[in-house]
Amino acid sequence: MASIRARLTTTYAAALAGTMLVFGATLWIGRGASVQRQLERYASAQAEVALRLTGFVRRKAKPGEPVQLTEVRDTVVGPTVVPELYTLLEALPEFILVVDANGQIVYGSREARLLSSDALDAIRSSAPRLSPSTVGHADIDRDTLDPRRRRAWEARGLPRTDQLLIVRRNADTTLAPIGYVIAGTSVGPSHRAQTELLGSMLAVAPFVLLVSIAVAYYLAGNTLRPLEQMRSELEAITDGRSLHRRLHLESTGDEMARLGATLNAMIGRLETSFGGLRRFTADASHELKTPLTVLRANVERAMSSPQGSSEQLVALEEALQEITRMADLVDSLLTLARFDEGRFDLHRESIELEPIVRDVYETAVILGEAAGLEIAMPVLEPATVLGDAARLRQLFLNLVTNAIKYTPTGGTVELRLDAGEDTVAFTVRDTGIGIAAADLPYIFDRFWRADRARSRRVLGEHVSERGGFGLGLAISQWIAQAHGGTLTVASRLTRGSTFTVTLPLIGEQVLPVQAAPAAYAVHDGAD
Ligand code: ADP
Repeated sequence: MASIRARLTTTYAAALAGTMLVFGATLWIGRGASVQRQLERYASAQAEVALRLTGFVRRKAKPGEPVQLTEVRDTVVGPTVVPELYTLLEALPEFILVVDANGQIVYGSREARLLSSDALDAIRSSAPRLSPSTVGHADIDRDTLDPRRRRAWEARGLPRTDQLLIVRRNADTTLAPIGYVIAGTSVGPSHRAQTELLGSMLAVAPFVLLVSIAVAYYLAGNTLRPLEQMRSELEAITDGRSLHRRLHLESTGDEMARLGATLNAMIGRLETSFGGLRRFTADASHELKTPLTVLRANVERAMSSPQGSSEQLVALEEALQEITRMADLVDSLLTLARFDEGRFDLHRESIELEPIVRDVYETAVILGEAAGLEIAMPVLEPATVLGDAARLRQLFLNLVTNAIKYTPTGGTVELRLDAGEDTVAFTVRDTGIGIAAADLPYIFDRFWRADRARSRRVLGEHVSERGGFGLGLAISQWIAQAHGGTLTVASRLTRGSTFTVTLPLIGEQVLPVQAAPAAYAVHDGAD
């Protein structure tokens, strides 16, 4: 159980960590893109302001008076913006470059003046490739040669190298000779915002993970506890002696409760089948023990009697009877064992029931005469079924001999064979002792007899009426079912019984559910 709990917890932790990772990455990318857009808008606004300031200076000129936007004060430096425009542009806080139509930088803001000349040149030369609608990035380094400038950027805490987001805005023709303006802003804040976000996520994530894992571990343990409890209860029950016990079930109706109910049902079936097996073994041993005891007594009696005396002969004859009886029992047990195993020689061929029933009737007449009974067969209709003639004969004879055995002298036993549309019914009705309603559900159980004491031969006493083993009806019912039919009984105590075998007529036979196709395999006859 510990392993399921651990597995659940680790799976949960891995899923949570993965989710957090995806969530963090999405947040990180989103945050970066949002800051980038802000910087872009900011740089564009700067460029716009620079152009408007330039336009403002131009509009200030009196009508007809030409206003210069640039002038050459230093022939080495080349043209620069006029002082008025310079003063206005100096108010802008960010990186601004004003470039004339010749590609000459005529103004560089304070930020721009802190850059190395290489960096400035790189930006200027890349500017023509920059379309007015796009933004570009420029890696820059700040001036380290001029100590004054160096002190200036160091004092402001700016790094030596940086990356600028730059935009270009073209000046219209009224602003000639100004060509375009480049405005830029450091992308540092964007990176800083992302780094700060990552930092806070990293600070919180372990805590969230740990708390979640602890909660998951606790929940998994809580969920699996009933399972563990069920396992230990099951262990106690299935030790072989406690099958009467059942699992304790919560009335929650959840999966555990349903599993418990299923297991309880299974334990119930196990208990029934174990009980049946135990009873069967006990009954079989008991049934064998009685004739063995009788046999032993008889053999001892024969040995102690004078050689060839009539007493010795009687003892030996009784011993032989017991041996025959034991052989019958073993034969019945073997038949049932083969049925259970699905290994029996049941032939399937088209057979006429009429001659079989007539034959059984003739046997019944002989037996009935000896028992002082009237045997009748008012109906005998022709019927053909698919099956095993020997087994069906055994089935009919079982019912008839039972009827004769359990009907006192003077009674009647009636046999009928009624052919219906799809089925044929063989009925044996007697006016015998009958079966109590409470006993009816058990009469097909193995070794079941209504009155054991009457059926059993008591040691040392001669009981003329020899009871069976209580296996005949179990075998009969099995034969009926193996033919896709049924064996039913209706009986009232002291009023008599009616046993009815119903079999499907040929062409109507449906394979019985219990008898798998292998059950019809012809027995190899090895035993
Ligand atoms: P047995 O060999 O003991 O007759 P069966 O399985 O044939 O075994 O029958 C089981 C029990 O059912 C019998 O012991 C008897 O009590 C009862 N029984 C069977 N047939 C009849 C019947 N025709 N009338 C009354 N009781 C019957």
